Amino acid sequence: MADCIFCKIINKEIPSEIVYEDENVIAFKDINPKAPVHILVVPKKHIPTLNDFDDPDLMVKVMETCKKIAKDFNVAESGYRVLVNVNKEGGQVIYHVHFHVLGGRLFKFEQKGE
Ligand code: AMP
Ligand code: ZN
Repeated sequence: MADCIFCKIINKEIPSEIVYEDENVIAFKDINPKAPVHILVVPKKHIPTLNDFDDPDLMVKVMETCKKIAKDFNVAESGYRVLVNVNKEGGQVIYHVHFHVLGGRLFKFEQKGE
């Protein structure tokens, strides 16, 4: 997708702080972190939203990467949150599906701001 910012990150057309990468998945630091640890885990395939995600094998790879990131950033035991925003009312801004891995602070269930 030519005008997708995350495809541009995947293709190294724009810079990002990549913390993990393999054939199928990339993970990089969120540019506007909402927690001490805030990593975006992104399938390399351009899938717009979670609603369009119909590849169970890739889903497992993405979730395994989320677990690995939590471990690598030392929040696996203290606790972390994996978050997907879906469409407008879900707060999705970038339409290339991505999983936020957030940690390093206490989370509660919040209606706004997270
Ligand atoms: P969402 O609201 O779920 O679509 O989240 C999009 C996220 O992407 C936000 O947390 C942004 O801070 C983050 N973001 C936007 N542009 C970049 C970028 N160039 N590099 C890293 N993160 C970004
Ligand atoms: Zn994309």
